[in-house]
Amino acid sequence: MSDSFRAVLISEDEGGQRVEVADVPVDRLPAGDVTVAVECSTLNYKDALALTGSGKIVRSFPMVPGIDFAGTVTESSSPDYAPGDRVVLNGWGVGERHWGGLAERARVSADWLVPLESAFTPQQAMSIGTAGYTAMLCVMALERHGVTPDSGEVLVTGASGGVGSIAVAVLAKLGYTVVAVTGRPEEEEYLTGLGASRILPRSDFEGPGRPLAKEQWAGAVDVAGGHVLANVCASTRYRGTVAACGLAAGMDLPATVAPFILRGVTLAGIDSVMCPQEDRREAWRRLAQDLDPAVLEPMTEAIFLDECASTAEKLLAGRVRGRVIVPIA
Ligand code: NDP
Repeated sequence: MSDSFRAVLISEDEGGQRVEVADVPVDRLPAGDVTVAVECSTLNYKDALALTGSGKIVRSFPMVPGIDFAGTVTESSSPDYAPGDRVVLNGWGVGERHWGGLAERARVSADWLVPLESAFTPQQAMSIGTAGYTAMLCVMALERHGVTPDSGEVLVTGASGGVGSIAVAVLAKLGYTVVAVTGRPEEEEYLTGLGASRILPRSDFEGPGRPLAKEQWAGAVDVAGGHVLANVCASTRYRGTVAACGLAAGMDLPATVAPFILRGVTLAGIDSVMCPQEDRREAWRRLAQDLDPAVLEPMTEAIFLDECASTAEKLLAGRVRGRVIVPIA
């Protein structure tokens, strides 16, 4: 095996941040008990923030970005994994404070890994990636709070994005009536193809709204935050649940308590990064069961390592549909 590996490297100097694809000596890999030959990685929203330097994601330099990878174990001193095992990693600060997946090689803690579900190839697992695994955490939160396919319509915001696309596909397969919110009316056919029953323009949810609006949604998956989330909560039905996972529209929440104290609405916060192993494994098991892998290909664009920086700009500009994968091996 070669004593160096190709990786996207983000470095920082007085001039700012620089991104390159470099040959890195293997002995510079960080500490960890499992070494993985990465077969595929992805570009998530957070990776795009890291690559463009537009969010304070990277905590130390130089950094190999990539909050996700799927690959095969090549070395392990952990009793839980042996060479040849196929694994997936999502989050845990990888690609932020620990070298990540946009590389041919990664070394991490065994505690962060999840065995690759046999239903998926490494490429399919990355087509899902943190975005899709987060979408499943949102679906599981709705279920936990009693939202069933019979409860009524379920709303998904940012529906053409990564989290949104997988959320629409999973909810539709489970039998929910899914209403997709998008800022891209041209994606209507794509979204109905994933299973959305109707499409609403994002503008319906933008800007300040009333504390309480007409009761419409039994549940919602929100990737937007800001006024969008406030308006989603205000239009959620009595005892409905909103799973909030994102900030594509903003970090703030200009809402009132009215939906919570007058309609018993639950706002369920979703974090994928530090999510305990048990819930991660359950989310991946549920994805293997409740997501038709056939939906992944049409929603996925594959790029090379040296296209990550330019694609990150596109992703933040909302010009990427669905998911971006970075096949490596
Ligand atoms: P994408 O960029 O793939 O999708 C985001 C989508 O949001 C866009 O495609 C667009 O969809 C919509 N959108 C963009 N701008 C706005 C806006 N101003 N107002 C409302 N909607 C907007 O990102 P991901 O799906 O990967 O991630 C979505 C969000 O979820 C991000 O904020 C990300 O940080 C967060 N996230 C959080 C996780 C967690 O652990 N909590 C894990 C993963 C992601 P359309 O054009 O259809 O409207």
